[in-house]
Amino acid sequence: GDALAVSARVAPLGSRLVLLLVEDLTEARRIEAVRRDFVANVSHELKTPVGALSLLSEAVLDASDDPEAVERFAGRMQNEATRLTNLVQELIDLSRVQNDDPLEDSESVQVDELVTEAIERSRQSADNKQITLLAGGTEGLHVWGNRGQLAAALGNLVENAVNYSPARTRVKVAGRLTQSPGGDLIEIAVTDQGIGISDRDKERIFERFYRVDPARSRATGGTGLGLSIVKHVAASHGGEVTVWSAEGQGSTFTLRLPEAGSAREQAALDKADR
Ligand code: ADP
Repeated sequence: GDALAVSARVAPLGSRLVLLLVEDLTEARRIEAVRRDFVANVSHELKTPVGALSLLSEAVLDASDDPEAVERFAGRMQNEATRLTNLVQELIDLSRVQNDDPLEDSESVQVDELVTEAIERSRQSADNKQITLLAGGTEGLHVWGNRGQLAAALGNLVENAVNYSPARTRVKVAGRLTQSPGGDLIEIAVTDQGIGISDRDKERIFERFYRVDPARSRATGGTGLGLSIVKHVAASHGGEVTVWSAEGQGSTFTLRLPEAGSAREQAALDKADR
């Protein structure tokens, strides 16, 4: 249907571009399916923490003469609130990924800015677990792409690093410029000292709704959508996301994205070619 209509329209531009566009439409359908499944699950996923919060606040009121009980209930309220925040954040990410076409809305985006936003987003959960958030090497680097989508992708990686790490560990975000045959790339690596991922699971974690440990992931407000969003964003920007991990030691997720100046030059060359 629409895929064919599009390929007829752009056929003069060459078959490679047509292929890319058709792939993009298939991807758009996949994201649409993710959204539908998510909306189907979301009322339940939202009801659980809201229900818990309402019960816990009643419990706090009843226990007002028992400071220890109040503290315990307040701690659980904090967990439920974090869970709600994460769920809402994932909804926002999904709508960002769905509505904007990265190819149309691309601009030069400061990596510093993306990293700061990603870290701010996980600040509260990191503080709760006394996890230290560090950043380095990002100064002066620019990537080419859709700001909102890139922020969603990096935000997810940092959030996961915090969620799947024990207390009093470190999460580090490091940027660097690298060369590739297709032009300069920016690498943004998120490293944690967390639980790690087995080789078997590494192949599956980027699938939507896949979670290594559903119970643990649920406790942090995870839905199994985060990494599928990251993968989609990386691919639609002409980049990639890869993972290195050792069980019990930690993980590094690396986003590779086109460098802004290099991408602009490439776009100008492509234009001159036509
Ligand atoms: P979730 O919402 O469950 O976090 P994701 O798609 O973001 O979903 O991640 C999928 C699964 O991959 C998670 O449930 C978790 O099991 C695993 N995972 C993701 N990031 C990490 C990490 N930094 N360390 C260990 N496991 C991770």
